[in-house]
Amino acid sequence: MRVLFFCAYVALIGAVCGSSQAQDTAAEEATHRSGVLAHLAPDAAQRLFGAEATPAPGPPEAIGAYERGCLEGAVELPADGPNWQVMRPSRNRAWGHPVLIALLEHLARKLPAEAGWPGLLVGDIAQPRGGPMLTGHGSHQIGLDADIWFTPMPNRRLTPAERDEMPATNVVVADGNEVDEATWTPQHRRLLQAVAREPAVERIFVNPAIKRALCREAGPDRAWLGKIRPWWGHNYHFHMRLSCPSGQVECRPQAPPPPGDGCGKELDWWFTPEARHPPPGPTRPLLIGDLPRVCARLVAAP
Ligand SMILES: [Zn+2]
Repeated sequence: MRVLFFCAYVALIGAVCGSSQAQDTAAEEATHRSGVLAHLAPDAAQRLFGAEATPAPGPPEAIGAYERGCLEGAVELPADGPNWQVMRPSRNRAWGHPVLIALLEHLARKLPAEAGWPGLLVGDIAQPRGGPMLTGHGSHQIGLDADIWFTPMPNRRLTPAERDEMPATNVVVADGNEVDEATWTPQHRRLLQAVAREPAVERIFVNPAIKRALCREAGPDRAWLGKIRPWWGHNYHFHMRLSCPSGQVECRPQAPPPPGDGCGKELDWWFTPEARHPPPGPTRPLLIGDLPRVCARLVAAP
């Protein structure tokens, strides 16, 4: 419950959810979903978008804000590609804006050579029509956010059951102050660096301990570090967010990350007692009327 409360708070302040639910197995996920559904209003946006199994037909359009919007014309990342595998397939959250899906495929292809990273284990992207989810995220609503596991892709195809059950790799020690030397590798840094250098990527959310390690390990070229943003959670996966693609007039952009590498005082705050205990906030779930008007039509379309 605390996790759900926190996610709702995070949704309202307009960022991402730092929940550990990203790793939940299929059975845990099903339990959470039914628990949430039991208490939601009939016009709760989570209920309506969570029930959709197919994309909304039409030209691709990211509509609204990352934490308050929906997605038209989504495409699905295939479960398997040359250098990627989709995790937690039973959730049906491998849908995204075509620009994001194409970038994931492009990254997967180049990462072995560029970062020594064998391939992507892709976590939640978005629901078929985007919108708020029943579990786990404040954002991921307009098809421009994707979670990528810190577990390197194994050199075999995982079975559907393994993808729904296998735990992800935690790269942060229990007190949250540092990366875990037992799991954190130079390839993790190279992976994040390669992703951050993609022009379409606007932000990458990671645990503050990971940002701390990157600040320490980065060489003189630090321009990419500014896109790496500390956030709660994100110790099993990182969250990649794209800017609004050009021509997407319904997409509500965020302010760009502040200038600089983000390694100084700004990062220190994340290790203060204040940051360790985020204040609880309002928790009312989003109703369909809270989203851009076109989202109500989109969720009702056949
Ligand atoms: Zn995420």
